Amino acid sequence: MPELPEVTTTVSGINKVAKGLIIEDVWSDWPKLVRSGKFSDFKKDIKGRKILNAERRAKNILINLSEGKTLLIHMKMTGHVMYGKYREAKKDDKPGWRWLPVDEDHKHPLNDPYNRFLHLIFFLSNGHQLVLADTRKFAKVLLFDTDKTKTHPDLYLLGPEPLDKSHTLKVFKERLDKKAHWPIKQALMNQELIAGIGNIYSDEILWDSGIHPIQKFSEINEDKIKKMYTATQKILEKSIRLGGDSTSDYRNIHGERGGFQNVHMVYRRTGEPCRKKSCRGTTTRIIVATRSAHFCSEHQKLR
Ligand SMILES: [Zn+2]
Repeated sequence: MPELPEVTTTVSGINKVAKGLIIEDVWSDWPKLVRSGKFSDFKKDIKGRKILNAERRAKNILINLSEGKTLLIHMKMTGHVMYGKYREAKKDDKPGWRWLPVDEDHKHPLNDPYNRFLHLIFFLSNGHQLVLADTRKFAKVLLFDTDKTKTHPDLYLLGPEPLDKSHTLKVFKERLDKKAHWPIKQALMNQELIAGIGNIYSDEILWDSGIHPIQKFSEINEDKIKKMYTATQKILEKSIRLGGDSTSDYRNIHGERGGFQNVHMVYRRTGEPCRKKSCRGTTTRIIVATRSAHFCSEHQKLR
């Protein structure tokens, strides 16, 4: 699932290409993606609106439109947003493709199976399209009044943004202390405690700070908490610089992979030697609150 760095990458991409364009029409072969009412109403309501800008809140993309509406896209498990020029496939075109990129030289969208499943298309005033590709169709799309953004049920409970200036060590501690008896991995991933962190980054943060994923926050010493706070910012920022993580389905708005999967220290490295200098541990996988956690058997010992 796309986490903070991936959603940030997508949002910056949208801001680069789509600001000021008008949404002229919408198409979908899976109207259930839109959860804020009937698809026909959604279509009627969004047509003719201008894209003002995009922003991120936790793992949500928020696209602010003219005349006070906001389009929310949560990419969930396998979704990603792309921008390009697509045409509907004809009978003899590539099998498995309903839509094809017009520019066949653009190699990535053509060869990457994760980019084939376009289920929602916004036709823009410059002849391009903003599309939602989603293999498993779990993504969530909503349209609501911009002035309700702060109070919207999908948004108001979310915890602070870990890369905001206001997210100090004190705030970080206060948030995690709310679930001090939970395994720390589960607490880090809880969107109401801290926003935007999921499976990949919680594993990498805990590896970096030398904390076992099932350690309770109440049992972690001050020094390690500081390390975890610093690691959180460092790792999320590093992934943003690399264009996010494409271990799985995530692609940027041009259908290209990010680079963070190439620098994993622990995530999905089960059985591999630890990457920490002079550590002799092995990457181990356990289940924590239904999610898999990867950690080093030596420098992330349970205390
Ligand atoms: Zn280690």
